[in-house]
Amino acid sequence: MTTQTLSTFSSQSAATEQDSVKRTAAISSASSVKETLRAEVKNLNFWYGGKVHALHNVNLPIADKKITALIGPSGCGKSTLLRSFNRMHDLYPGNRYEGEILLHPGAHNLIDMDPGLVRLTVGMVFQKPNPFPKSIYENVVAGLRIRGVSNKAELDARAEESLRGAAIWDEVKDRLHTSAYGLSGGQQQRLCIARALAPKPDLLLLDEPTSALDPIATAKIEDLLSDLHKETTVVMVTHNMQQAARISHYTAYMHMGEMVEFAPTDTLFTSPAKVKTRDYITGRFG
Ligand code: ADP
Repeated sequence: MTTQTLSTFSSQSAATEQDSVKRTAAISSASSVKETLRAEVKNLNFWYGGKVHALHNVNLPIADKKITALIGPSGCGKSTLLRSFNRMHDLYPGNRYEGEILLHPGAHNLIDMDPGLVRLTVGMVFQKPNPFPKSIYENVVAGLRIRGVSNKAELDARAEESLRGAAIWDEVKDRLHTSAYGLSGGQQQRLCIARALAPKPDLLLLDEPTSALDPIATAKIEDLLSDLHKETTVVMVTHNMQQAARISHYTAYMHMGEMVEFAPTDTLFTSPAKVKTRDYITGRFG
């Protein structure tokens, strides 16, 4: 895997002279942070239907076994960027990418790979829990069965490991073969996280994973994510800045399809390099 200095950077196009001075300072203060990169977005552009230019030359490093949060006002391109990682846009005709999303080790460009192969290695959890109309057990092992795992002992072990990883094992261990629809919304979302974890994805994408949940269920998911990163690299969209501040290690602020600023989460929220970022996190904008 590539070991690099994770530089704080800001988009060139939006840089003012004053910002540029601040950016230089931020780069040197962040340059002591050494991270192993799991992925890198490089000069990524994306068009919906060949017309709507939703991502503009986006660059973003993704640190291995860390949580990277994407924040920004509605419509700024967070979901578009997240969905590019698992090539979800390919399900609709006319959408087009330019640029690279490199997956390490090996620097495989996810944009050039077969989308089906990409989805085998990049897991995703959506806003609303979407369990399959099957038992809890069959939900968790679904991805393993697709990959050809049929040995019962292995399926059982991976199901337990994933359900434990998603902090729901104790609540479901005695009802594994009952319908997933019998679970609460928060439990269903943790089941969906377990389902995404079971195939041991290289990247786990979370698209506002708690926005449909109550505060107690949200707190459980945040707790589990805080532990999850020890094994898994997470990229998460959230419209909740407090959530980003609580659980992510790195935060990327987007605005109108551009990556305005990327930094260690503490730095971004306490001393952002860009005026646009500061206005957003202080509630002056967005
Ligand atoms: P966010 O997740 O930050 O709210 P999105 O990534 O959903 O933003 O949207 C980014 C831009 O792309 C917006 O201008 C939005 O209107 C546009 N967009 C999103 N989905 C589509 C689509 N399916 N077709 C055309 N334009 C879209």
